[in-house]
Amino acid sequence: MMFRTRFAPSPTGPLHLGHAYSALLAHDMARAAGGSFLLRIDDIDQSRARPEWEDQIYDDLLWLGIRWNEPVRRQSDHIKDYAQAVDKLTDIGLTYACACTRRDIEEAASAPQEGTPDFGPDGRIYPGTCRDLNLPVTDQTVTRLNMARACARALPASFTETGPSHAGTHTLNADEITATIGDVVLVRRQMAAAYHLAVVVDDMAQNITHVIRGQDLFEATHIHVLLQKLLGLPTPTYHHHALIRDDAGKRLAKRDDARAIAKYRAEGATPADIRRLVGLPPSSS
Ligand code: GLU
Repeated sequence: MMFRTRFAPSPTGPLHLGHAYSALLAHDMARAAGGSFLLRIDDIDQSRARPEWEDQIYDDLLWLGIRWNEPVRRQSDHIKDYAQAVDKLTDIGLTYACACTRRDIEEAASAPQEGTPDFGPDGRIYPGTCRDLNLPVTDQTVTRLNMARACARALPASFTETGPSHAGTHTLNADEITATIGDVVLVRRQMAAAYHLAVVVDDMAQNITHVIRGQDLFEATHIHVLLQKLLGLPTPTYHHHALIRDDAGKRLAKRDDARAIAKYRAEGATPADIRRLVGLPPSSS
């Protein structure tokens, strides 16, 4: 079986132990399967991406012993791809412009109903204020997916998960997705695309067959599989791994400088030390 996986860090801060685990695990799994390991720089959020963090990512990964198949995909080089995907969804009547600010959403969100969550993998579940308003798209609006319509069109759909906590086949359920995820954002203000849209376009463009990433993205996978179906793209196999936690048992934050690989390097740690710290067996090479 073909096996192509990737590591997709955002150059918005230093790589930390959690990133090292994710990258090393994907690299090990690709090697064990005789497959390919690719790199993607998730720099779609140009307000936060910095070239120096990108340079540090290459440097840390090489130091860890990670080698990737060229070319590296940088999201900022593919802005048109995301717009095309959104246009496709708009053409089939699945998107709408939303002018709500964060504050508007907070205020409109009705008092929590029993059993209905307030937050999903795309943040606060959108109360639907702009859904039927037919607002024009401007630089003050975001573009959302009409989730109920999207489900009606895309389902049935399912995906295979091989990670430790949810291994098995997962079938998407329209009612559940609408209630627990809602109308996700596809295009953010001042950004070419939101993460959920970009990741689907990127995984297709890199021909990814196996997505290996942290457990925190398991629920979001439902959004990704739905978008793949809507865009006529293949669904990879997913493997969500456990998260590396700090001494207090809290998962490492996106920017946990205290556990930055660069800091361990500066203190004289070796790549083998990092593997040991994240619980991976010694490298075979
Ligand atoms: N840039 C994303 C992150 O670091 C990638 C997530 C993914 O692997 O899909 O969270």
